[in-house]
Amino acid sequence: MSEESKTKEAKGSCLCGKVSMQFQHVSTALGACHCRMCRKWGGSALLALSSGTQVTIEGEEHITAYSSSAWAERGFCKHCGTHLFYKLKQAQSYTVPLGFFEELSGLTFQHEIFIDEKPDCYAFAGERETMTGAEVFAKYGAG
Ligand SMILES: [Zn+2]
Ligand SMILES: [Zn+2]
Repeated sequence: MSEESKTKEAKGSCLCGKVSMQFQHVSTALGACHCRMCRKWGGSALLALSSGTQVTIEGEEHITAYSSSAWAERGFCKHCGTHLFYKLKQAQSYTVPLGFFEELSGLTFQHEIFIDEKPDCYAFAGERETMTGAEVFAKYGAG
């Protein structure tokens, strides 16, 4: 993800309400990931906020975490299927889908990654920083 800008406290819950999470440091910079795995996971590009490591989870027993790569896992509610997080295993840091959060004001759409894997049939309007998958791996070591 891109360099950290401002953060805020933010919370949300899944569709059925069994899982809720409150994060202390959620970035106000929205990012999109067009990689194949995110698109397969969520049906299209993943719009998500970098949400740090400080979280309070209620209903953790309702979460299933799927290990989607050597370095990350993806969590979802086992009852309603809501996608809850992409989590880096080593850093223990969360990236949370935008739709999870209740309060969506004060955000800016700041970057798109794996732009080279985006299908040609759509594009987000406006200008922002973009990175290819190779650039992401070169910069962060993992996607
Ligand atoms: Zn649920
Ligand atoms: Zn992705």
